[in-house]
Amino acid sequence: MSSLIFGPVPSRRLGRSLGVDLVPFKTCTYDCIYCQLGPTTHKTTQRKEYVPLDDVIEALKPRLATDPDYITLSGSGEPTLYSRIGELIDRIKKLTTIPVALLTNGSLLFLPKVRNDIINADLIVPSLDAGSDTCFQYVNRPHKDIQFDQMLQGLIDLRNEYKGQYWLEVFLLGGMTSTEQEIKKLAQCI
Ligand code: SF4
Repeated sequence: MSSLIFGPVPSRRLGRSLGVDLVPFKTCTYDCIYCQLGPTTHKTTQRKEYVPLDDVIEALKPRLATDPDYITLSGSGEPTLYSRIGELIDRIKKLTTIPVALLTNGSLLFLPKVRNDIINADLIVPSLDAGSDTCFQYVNRPHKDIQFDQMLQGLIDLRNEYKGQYWLEVFLLGGMTSTEQEIKKLAQCI
């Protein structure tokens, strides 16, 4: 089960980051045009226990001795699709004082259950790549059940409810979202 855990890997933002991969390869709510993992093969909004929670914990325990700066929920898809992510965060926090970070595309934050599940993470890094629905469709190619305005409201709601560290990651795509007009739209969103 060690493939569930990777690293620690050096991260510019997170130092030595021990990764936890909670969903199968390219199981995601988006199919981003820039995704370094290639096309999304399973575009879904269905939250599931894709890997047994006990297996994740057992795989993680021996790797805590690597003493990373963060335990990072991320990997090869969208981690908030993991339906037991809240229990996972709570169990990690019983095992160690190493802070838990979550890297998320933010697409499911409009769901109160998802926001509640991740509330005990120490750091949440959501993404925002577009300031308009046109760019959102072009850059992120979301699942049909995810609407731009709804996604944006989810980011705002989390910001208002969450007491941990919130680092919004804004990715500008040359020639598309890096124009002055699009940057102004993005700035209005945040
Ligand atoms: S959200 Fe992340 S994993 Fe999903 S398609 Fe975009 S870059 Fe890839």
